[in-house]
Amino acid sequence: MPRRTKIIATIGPTSDSEAVLKGMIEAGMDVARLSLAHESLEQALARYHRVRKAAADFGRTVGILVDLPGPKVRAGAVPDEGLLLLEGQRLRLTPGTGTSTAEVIQVDYDQLLSDIHPGDTVAFGDGAVVVEALGRADDHIEVSVIHGGVLKGRPGIHIPSDRLRLTSPTSEDLRCLDAFIDVDVDMVALSFVRSAHDVRRVGVEPHPRGPLIVAKVETRAAVENLDGIIEASGAVMVARGDLGSEFPIEELPHLQKRIIHRCIALGRPAITATQMLESMIQAPIPTRAEASDVANAVFDGSSALMLSGESAVGVDPVHAVATMARIAERADDEFDYDTWADQLQTIERDATDPANAITDAMTSAAHRAAAATNAAAIICISRSGFTVRSIARFRPRARIIGFSTHERTVRQLTMSWGSVPYHLEGTERADHLVPAAIAEALRLGEVKPGDLVVLLFGTGELAGRATDTLRLLRIP
Ligand code: PGA
Ligand code: MN
Repeated sequence: MPRRTKIIATIGPTSDSEAVLKGMIEAGMDVARLSLAHESLEQALARYHRVRKAAADFGRTVGILVDLPGPKVRAGAVPDEGLLLLEGQRLRLTPGTGTSTAEVIQVDYDQLLSDIHPGDTVAFGDGAVVVEALGRADDHIEVSVIHGGVLKGRPGIHIPSDRLRLTSPTSEDLRCLDAFIDVDVDMVALSFVRSAHDVRRVGVEPHPRGPLIVAKVETRAAVENLDGIIEASGAVMVARGDLGSEFPIEELPHLQKRIIHRCIALGRPAITATQMLESMIQAPIPTRAEASDVANAVFDGSSALMLSGESAVGVDPVHAVATMARIAERADDEFDYDTWADQLQTIERDATDPANAITDAMTSAAHRAAAATNAAAIICISRSGFTVRSIARFRPRARIIGFSTHERTVRQLTMSWGSVPYHLEGTERADHLVPAAIAEALRLGEVKPGDLVVLLFGTGELAGRATDTLRLLRIP
């Protein structure tokens, strides 16, 4: 079975060239992520156009996810060779943007002195170093290292989110977002959201007219307001880096399962992210634990898996993508499809929109029809991609072919589990689209004459253009 779980790879200094980008696409990158936490807007825009060009040259649909940093606090740059901090060592944190040393770490957060209280823990670089605040002076906070390690570059700092007074999205986020809307970005991730209100504050047109919004779950408040955030978003990321600093680390595997489960029940793609193949930043093979983590993230129901440093600053981004693709594809084989679908049938989903409720009912029926007839493929004709994401909830064994006349929908489906998205030319009328989709699926080699396929589409007769038709047909 070809791989069903999607792969998102972060683009950075070691994956910036056209040759490496094409290698990553060939190795299985479905979505390229541009993280504005690590680069300037100009740099990110240049990368954006490079990815678009590489995908076009390669003839593949690659989605682009722009990740807005939100109120991410960073340390001032550490020396080039890195900064080793040892357990028990005392040092100072001070507000500022200058260079950090082993004695004083500069933190680009003006409210630092008032918002960090004695007893708080502060994590650097996704937990590479953790310090505890001991006391406060006029111009600094005295801390002691409770977990030693090496800091590099400008490490991100995790301040407990209930202390942080900054909210997401920031005005800088919105400025960057505007620039990417101008170039027709596919998907945008929001960092450190705490409520559905934060998600709505981005104020973009609902997808597919606007970008699909990915809410990163990485604060305590986001976990408390999970369902509301999922419903206000187009997809969700289990952002394990910051989430693992917000909660005791032993909670993280269970939070991951819970968040993914709610996302899939609500028909939103769920991304599992951070440190999946971390050791491949330097090494040619992952650790055994990392290989298991990737496979288990598939078993948890992840729609997509994400590479961060592995592909952005690692020694061999193409090999990191290829390795993740191999592990994911093998795990897809072992996935317990039947149990998953059975469990999902019992999860209620409160589709507030009546058109969505109709589409959900149709995809549920389509999934059962496909399973009962051992159909070769489920062909969906979808305007916004909702139908494709709705059928993907059930994790059908049959291939999901997602056709849309909207190019942005096609690119937004690159992170939806199991679906092969294609663009369909022409009008939105069902009497044109149905034969066009079948002819195109044949031409693309996705189906062959004699295959039994399940077809899902909307005639446009019901309100909200719900998917109202389910057909089984044999390909002539
Ligand atoms: P980041 O988000 O890499 O932008 O911090 C992901 C995470 O926190 O895991
Ligand atoms: Mn984060």
